[in-house]
Parts: sequence; structure tokens; C-alpha cells
Amino acid sequence: MGDAEAPLRILVVEDEKSYREALSAGLAKEGYAVELAADGSEGLRLFAENPPDLVLLDVLLPGMLGTEVCRRMGAIAPVPVIMVSALDSEVDVVLGLEIGAADYITKPYHLRELTARIQAVLRRVAPRPVGLPVISGRGAQWAPEVVVAGPVRIDFARREVTTSRRVVHLSRREFDLLALLLSPPGQVHTREELIDRLWSGRDLSDTRTLDTHIRRLRVKLERDPADPQYLVTVRGVGFRFDAEGRGELERC
Ligand code: CA
Repeated sequence: MGDAEAPLRILVVEDEKSYREALSAGLAKEGYAVELAADGSEGLRLFAENPPDLVLLDVLLPGMLGTEVCRRMGAIAPVPVIMVSALDSEVDVVLGLEIGAADYITKPYHLRELTARIQAVLRRVAPRPVGLPVISGRGAQWAPEVVVAGPVRIDFARREVTTSRRVVHLSRREFDLLALLLSPPGQVHTREELIDRLWSGRDLSDTRTLDTHIRRLRVKLERDPADPQYLVTVRGVGFRFDAEGRGELERC
């Protein structure tokens, strides 16, 4: 094991210069040692020379795609990789390929969110209490908290959702929506409230985005998304998470 005082090393593979510069400064401020690569082959070279503690890997890179870079890194050393995508749709691709990424994050993101993910991944894959940087000021907000509702278990600290069967990969918005619906389980949340909390400042009349996210959550959480038992519609009002899985009562 290395010196306890040595900072954890993060390799950033990112072709956008503005992101590289912001990450270099931001992660250094959080106490990490940062190495930068502008494309996949440079990233792989640095990775192979001296495997870091964690990789932050952009999906859309010139030449070799981040997904392929992730696969090749996995064959070299078991280092956790957080994939960075510009679109939610890329996340589906990343996860569908099962390339072994530890987590993902969607651009644009806040540095605070990123460092929370980094800490969560490092805690999960390789507990190293000594040397982990502390997030200044907001640490208390990430105290472990778990809610279990029916088959769904949501770990707020890790932003991790599991059903009785498996880990469920959710986009940031899907996670936030589910978190709202589970606070507390059973309570009816109006469409206006959900839209306001998740997409504040947008036109409230545009509810298609909410419906899209509800649909995606059902696909990921329900046995039959067309006949939801947990994430149910309350007609004319909004949605409710029924921990007992009784479906849409009003319909019966
Ligand atoms: Ca890119």
C-alpha cells in the first residue's frame, strides 16, 4: 500500500479543453492528484504506465470511443471508471454494453456532484478511509440514508437503487424523480410539484418530459411497465409510489 499521505490519483480522459482545465483545478482543490489525457490512446498509455485510483472517462472522444477505452483499461488493471456522457441516451449505450464502468455522470454537472460520485465509488470499490479527501462544507448532506419501499431500495449517499433482483442504473433526473416519489412512499405528488422541483424555471405546461421520465422509471422498476403496480398514476393529480404494489386503485 502507498503512503497514507499520498493523494489519490485521478486520470481524466476528456477531449474538451474547458472541461480538462476545470477538472484539473477543481479536483486538485479537493485534494486529488490529477492527470490529464485529451484522447483515448493517450489515456490508455498513462493508465498502463501507472494505474490511477480512479478514471474519469468521457464517452465521446475523437478516435477511440470512451466505451472501448473503458473495456481496454479493464483488461489492464481493476481501476474504477466513471463514464462522462453528454446525453442521457449515451448512458443507456454505456450501460447496455456492460463495459464495467463503476458509475456515470451526465454533462453538464456540478463539481460537487462529481466529487460526491467519486467518493462514493472509491468507498464502494476499495475502502481506503485514510487519505480520502473531505468535501468541504456539505459533507453532512451525504450522510448515509436508505429508504426501502416494496421491492425498491434507494441509498441516497451512494445514489444507488436496487430492486429485489438487481442494481438499477438511473440517470440523474430519474434518480431525483424517484427520490422525490419516495419521500415519503405513498404520498401523492402533483405533476406541478414534481416538475417544479426537477425542472424549476421551465414552462409548467410542458409535462411530456415528466411523462418520459416516469415511463423510463417504470421500465426499470416494474415487472410490467404497461400495468404499473408501484409507480402509479393518480388520475388528474400526479403520481404516487405504492410500497405495497397495489397498482392504480382508482381503476378497479
Ligand atoms: Ca467529448
